[in-house]
Amino acid sequence: MKITAYGGAREVGRSAFLVEEGKKQILLDCGVMLGETVKTPQFPKGMEKGIRDIAISHAHLDHSGYLGSIIAHGAKPAIHGIKATRDLVGVLLADYMRIGKDVDFGERHVSEVARRFCTYEFREPFRAGGFEGRLHNAGHILGSAMIWLGGERKLLYSGDISARATRLLDGCEKNLRADALVLEGTYGNEELPGTKETVTGLIREINETIKEGGHVIIPSFAVGRGQEILMILESHMKSGVIPHVKIYMDGMIRKAMKIYRQNVIYAKGEVQKRILMSADDPFSSKHFFVPRRRDRSDVFKEPCIIVSTSGMVTGGPILTYLKELGGNPKNKIIFVGYQAEGTRGRKILDGAKEIEIDDEMVKLRLKVAEFRLSGHAGKSELLQFAYGIKGLRKVVLVHGEEKSLMELGESLEKKYEVVIPKIGDEVRI
Ligand SMILES: [Zn+2]
Ligand SMILES: [Zn+2]
Repeated sequence: MKITAYGGAREVGRSAFLVEEGKKQILLDCGVMLGETVKTPQFPKGMEKGIRDIAISHAHLDHSGYLGSIIAHGAKPAIHGIKATRDLVGVLLADYMRIGKDVDFGERHVSEVARRFCTYEFREPFRAGGFEGRLHNAGHILGSAMIWLGGERKLLYSGDISARATRLLDGCEKNLRADALVLEGTYGNEELPGTKETVTGLIREINETIKEGGHVIIPSFAVGRGQEILMILESHMKSGVIPHVKIYMDGMIRKAMKIYRQNVIYAKGEVQKRILMSADDPFSSKHFFVPRRRDRSDVFKEPCIIVSTSGMVTGGPILTYLKELGGNPKNKIIFVGYQAEGTRGRKILDGAKEIEIDDEMVKLRLKVAEFRLSGHAGKSELLQFAYGIKGLRKVVLVHGEEKSLMELGESLEKKYEVVIPKIGDEVRI
């Protein structure tokens, strides 16, 4: 068995790994690296034309964003994945098409991506590219899967994984069997704080601002953290821990919420039960609101909580909110996700007193807080995950900065053969 890395090697973004064994062949993920961290999109490098089978771990564009382009270039692959992934890919690709730079595909290619999907349930056996395949819950976003492939050798590709259960999802499945593991290492050199302390701190900061009569702004990615944050806010408001103010959802989060609701069978049992056994539907809570005016003037009127894209303040409606609310020290911006170097989000976190929005310098006097609610496993969780794989001999580390993968690799080397490929490298299993 041979794995070729076309992207996602010693970097986060444009994940694409070709797995071959004799005549069997399948591409695992087909992503792009997008604008939050780079000026122009970066695509998988040197990827073969004529790929027949692609399995997609989850909908985030760093795993699925190149699908529109390859279809536009004439490829006719079968795409294998979970149904929620197909639906979320549709929304994210359509959004990328509208706002992305150098986009070379159109609406009909986005529809064709959806049509080319063969969808499966978690753990349902299927055949793809000559391999036996199975998808296992990865706990990262709705429908996110680890991809297991069986040929002469057995391979497990983690995609992005979270070991912990969240409001909406169970943690990733553990104790699977494989000869080799392709493992993400986003936080390979970092331990993540406990969820409970994080949520308590977050609620405290929100309450402080609401009491003072300020607005709380939470920048968030459209799919994943956005829904988790909204669920946390909703349940604390329902129980009275947060005072009753409006929670506004803005940007792509709204559309993604709809798809989460339609695909709630991929959420954890409790959430499904809540919806099926009672009229208590957290997705259509009476606390959630959508701005009614284009200029968002209705949102500015009274203290409220705003959850809006983009997650690193690089674009989207969040900019409108910062322009209007950034100058008032009563208000607060709370970061809940990773802020990459060079983004406005990082500059604000680092204490910038003014930032540029639409060629205009905006003075910042609002308060700043940060609570990392990660959708990824931390270092010791990644190690425990690997130790739990039965029969494991080789670990291939991907989807992380070089520094992070090196540190994770050092720990794993005590038990396994470890490879940290560069783009273009072939790894033999
Ligand atoms: Zn992801
Ligand atoms: Zn990713």
